[in-house]
Amino acid sequence: MFVYADNAATTKLRKTALEAMLPWLEDSFGNASSMYAPARDAKRALEDARKTVAACLGARPDEIYFTSGGTESDNWALQCSVAEGQRLIISAIEHHAVLHTAEALAKAGRMVDILPVNAQGQVEPATLEKALSQGIAPALVSIMAANNEIGTVLDIPTLFTLTKRLSPTTRTHTDAVQAVGHIPLSLEEVDLLSLSAHKFGGPKGVGMLYIRKGVRLPPLLHGGGHERGKRSSTENIAGIVGLAAALLEAVNSRDSAAKQTDLMRNRLIDGILKIPYSFVNGDRENHLPGIASFIFECVEGETLVLGLDAVGICASSGSACSSGSLDPSHVLMAIGLPQEVAHGSLRLSIDETTTADQVDYLVEQVSRVVSQRRAMSPLWNEKTQTPTERFWPDGNPR
Ligand code: PLP
Repeated sequence: MFVYADNAATTKLRKTALEAMLPWLEDSFGNASSMYAPARDAKRALEDARKTVAACLGARPDEIYFTSGGTESDNWALQCSVAEGQRLIISAIEHHAVLHTAEALAKAGRMVDILPVNAQGQVEPATLEKALSQGIAPALVSIMAANNEIGTVLDIPTLFTLTKRLSPTTRTHTDAVQAVGHIPLSLEEVDLLSLSAHKFGGPKGVGMLYIRKGVRLPPLLHGGGHERGKRSSTENIAGIVGLAAALLEAVNSRDSAAKQTDLMRNRLIDGILKIPYSFVNGDRENHLPGIASFIFECVEGETLVLGLDAVGICASSGSACSSGSLDPSHVLMAIGLPQEVAHGSLRLSIDETTTADQVDYLVEQVSRVVSQRRAMSPLWNEKTQTPTERFWPDGNPR
């Protein structure tokens, strides 16, 4: 059996997106900036896509700027909001697109505060309140809408309302790459929002930055003045049209898809937690429908992923971007897991097409591979003699 359980890394292109894209990859190849009929068709498709995306997000078309993906959108929001000597606040569980950009900004003379999260991966309002009440008013607060490794959905409305109340001049940005198309989102108190098409059934290499009307964000990319002078580079019409078609379908089917995915996620968690010394990471209540992150003590996540690949299962040991690195995930460290425990993580991310048979196969194979690896582990042999040992920060294995 083949099971794709890595939808947080990327999703399959939706048929509707592919069909919408095809004409723009074949005969309708005009450059939207040119002055002849095929170019005008391309320009019209671009503006129609902008209207669709705006309607899906509850925004205005002139607040939508297409980019090359989530990474560019995050870089744009951070790099162009925080000038030298200014202050930036982010959370400790941000994707590397935000975290590494913030680190680069810190090296270039910006003040960067990284807010800790609790064991569920939530930024507690009191933590943000304390940061806002100390030091100079930050130029930007950037907190993700949902985490890509543990699936926790953060309380952006509360956090950004607090930001605007305590520091009205501070701009807000949310990396909503994992959230858009999967859960309802509000733009209230959000000045900037990043999304990426390939996380909801659109093509790779295309994304968007929402810029609230009135927010003056200078361009990151200079050049021919595309996207009303804000983001230069010839528009990727096929990609943009595919993004809009995928987003429309994702938003229209969101509630039923989330219900079905969540049902299968519960089945998956119930099955996997029967494995001794296994835990689920993240927030039990506020989570994305499709992501489940597990810890198996005394097993290396990477070896699990390889063992599962051998039986047709695509999974991840953390975020796709950190796979291949020997460092434990910064997200798992931030929620309080000790380094040796964080190494034993497995992320399974399913969608509404995942069947009960596939979930049962996942459970069966994960159990088999975990037992197999533990049988070879000297750590495990020691552990079975001291079974009361617990690593979990709040003392509650789940
Ligand atoms: N932000 C989050 C939360 C992500 O999960 C990802 C991709 O995994 C990105 C940003 C980067 O998006 P892209 O792959 O479109 O550059």
